[in-house]
Amino acid sequence: EPVLYIVATPIGNLGDLSPRAQEVLAVADLIAAEDTRHTGRLLAHFNIKAPMISVHDHNERQRADLVIRHLQQGEQIALVSDAGTPLISDPGFFLVRAVRDAGFRVSPVPGSCAFIAALSASGLPSDRFLFEGFLPPKSGARKQRLEALKDQLPTLVFYESTHRILASLEDMGAVFGDDRYAVVARELTKTFETIRGGELKELLEWMSADPNQQKGEFVVLVHGAVEKVAVEIDPEVRRILQLLGEELP
Ligand code: SAM
Repeated sequence: EPVLYIVATPIGNLGDLSPRAQEVLAVADLIAAEDTRHTGRLLAHFNIKAPMISVHDHNERQRADLVIRHLQQGEQIALVSDAGTPLISDPGFFLVRAVRDAGFRVSPVPGSCAFIAALSASGLPSDRFLFEGFLPPKSGARKQRLEALKDQLPTLVFYESTHRILASLEDMGAVFGDDRYAVVARELTKTFETIRGGELKELLEWMSADPNQQKGEFVVLVHGAVEKVAVEIDPEVRRILQLLGEELP
């Protein structure tokens, strides 16, 4: 039966590629990869050989037609990205749409995802969260985006790269208030995994002081806005309180 499998790959530790993911990749007739050289190394590590095509942001729409033609031949195809779960701040959306619209089965092979891993270990409320992915690279647009998120109650979740981590934390402090609690999760599942919580100003200070902490890949999680409870006092209660106040010495 023709199927497009959406296969999650490790975000660092190769031990996180599940046995089922290995099996699906091994039997796939074709692997659609974000970067074929990068995925080639992963496959070599697991001794998996399969023909690959590249599917990235710039050719995804055209590639969808090719993938559909392969599915029409009855083939099984696996989509992978460079790391983690495809479509999560990664290519794949147009492909999945097109393949489903063409009437073929799309089936997930779940596994690593950086923000789920970060959220699960952050100690921040996880019942409601808002995944924002990457913020705009320029400070003006970034602050505008943050401004729109300022009063959101769910935990806010961002992806950030080594190039912009300091600037982003700075902008977050400026917009959310630098006493807002946040957690930075760096290099998850890798040798230098670090998960640190604190007020935005503390995190910024700590990271500025240590260039090593600015290296690698980051998930930034920010505590949601604390709900301002508008207390409405009943006029009658207010009158009684006032009377009581007058009677007190
Ligand atoms: N599809 C991936 C996923 O499922 O998490 C995300 C891909 S996105 C292009 C890459 C970003 O994910 C990095 O810039 C970083 O923000 C985050 N990321 C990936 N691996 C990570 C890791 N090991 N530790 C912390 N963040 C990571």
